[in-house]
Amino acid sequence: MTAKNRSKRSCDYAMLSFEDAWRRISGALTPLPPVQQPLESVTGLVLAEDVIARENIPPFAASTMDGYGVLSADTTCERFVAGEQNAGLRLDLTVKEGTAVRIMTGAPVPAGADAVIPFEQTVETDGRVRLLSAVGPGENIRAIGQDIASGETVLKKGSVLGPAEIGLLATLGHSRVPVLPRPRVSVMATGNELVPIHATPRLGQIRNSNAPAIAAAVKVCGFDAIALPQPVVDDEAELERAIVEALSKSDVLITSGGVSMGTRDLVKSALARLGEILVGRVAIKPGKPLTFAMIHGKPVFGLPGNPVSSLVCFEQFVRPALRRMSGLRLLGRPCVDVRLEQGLRRDPDRTEFQRAIVERDPEGFTARGNGPQGSSRLKSLSGANALLVLPAGKGDYPAGSRVMALLINQPEASEDLPAGFPPQKLQSFWG
Ligand code: AMP
Ligand code: MG
Repeated sequence: MTAKNRSKRSCDYAMLSFEDAWRRISGALTPLPPVQQPLESVTGLVLAEDVIARENIPPFAASTMDGYGVLSADTTCERFVAGEQNAGLRLDLTVKEGTAVRIMTGAPVPAGADAVIPFEQTVETDGRVRLLSAVGPGENIRAIGQDIASGETVLKKGSVLGPAEIGLLATLGHSRVPVLPRPRVSVMATGNELVPIHATPRLGQIRNSNAPAIAAAVKVCGFDAIALPQPVVDDEAELERAIVEALSKSDVLITSGGVSMGTRDLVKSALARLGEILVGRVAIKPGKPLTFAMIHGKPVFGLPGNPVSSLVCFEQFVRPALRRMSGLRLLGRPCVDVRLEQGLRRDPDRTEFQRAIVERDPEGFTARGNGPQGSSRLKSLSGANALLVLPAGKGDYPAGSRVMALLINQPEASEDLPAGFPPQKLQSFWG
């Protein structure tokens, strides 16, 4: 908190490029300390330590087929079936020359047997089995430690825990797992004009649509959102109190509204008093007033109040930040090179993100706008599957121009946000 910050107005903050803003934000983020969590609740989390096998899998030689355990060197024509070995242990069965043991997949191979011949290659009559083909030593048997050898590093620190990883942890008996926890995220709407969704707005009032929309955005990325029940009024003391309280219950705070130039836009100054503002303006459209602050080591995103601005800023900055805090390495959406169906205007000063529908055609990808692009026009974000990236500059884009599109419905595919527009490396999707 500095005297300089205290008196700063929105326009006094440096106008950062998209890349510089992200660099400052990502540089301030650190994963939360690791915790032990029950296996049932670690799906999608990042492993905090290497996992080393303390046992062999399988721990006993096991059949991979339903068939007969035999001696491979035995040449007896018909063998006496000495019993049946199901999954689970029987100690009394032994295979020797002239005998075989019926055995099921996953069952321990009985003493003496060195191969399993599948049922399909045998005929059993009256307790005697005839082999229709030869079987070699070790055939259809999983040796001890064949899948996982004791001492082997099975999962590396930093692995994302999906179904296969969780299966491996369960196989090795890890009922609790060291993971990087998901940050707890509070969502706070600010604005004197806001009323709850169930209320009928009076003249000048609007319903608070950002809180549920941002909370949904948080949930879509797999995090828990704590949405403040009431919007906070545009009052410095109230804002400060609400910010401090929200941060006491969460690891990250997202606010909406109150970061532009208006006389009642007081969120920036509240944040500056409580901590340090690292990003105060960004040369993007929508989202110019985007604000990022660190308060007592916790990140706060001050999103602009216009519904599209707040969701686009969430997509471009908050989502990758939450992923980074969770230790996830993939942060950037895939991008493709698209051909514009219609001409587009270009902003001379700001990189623009336009919501669009991208489709595949025989020559690659085409993009068409999804309706009016004003930052209150939430309808045109609904149904859009891409944000076109239009770098600032002179001259417009005629129909047929090629630009980059971020595919906002596709999972993250790159380790950083696309740096430097236009893209260096393109990835293709849908075929
Ligand atoms: P602000 O960023 O506070 O200047 O607000 C910009 C515009 O977004 C204004 O038209 C606000 O009424 C609108 N707005 C702010 N907060 C919300 C919200 N929570 N839900 C819907 N619209 C909002
Ligand atoms: Mg406002």
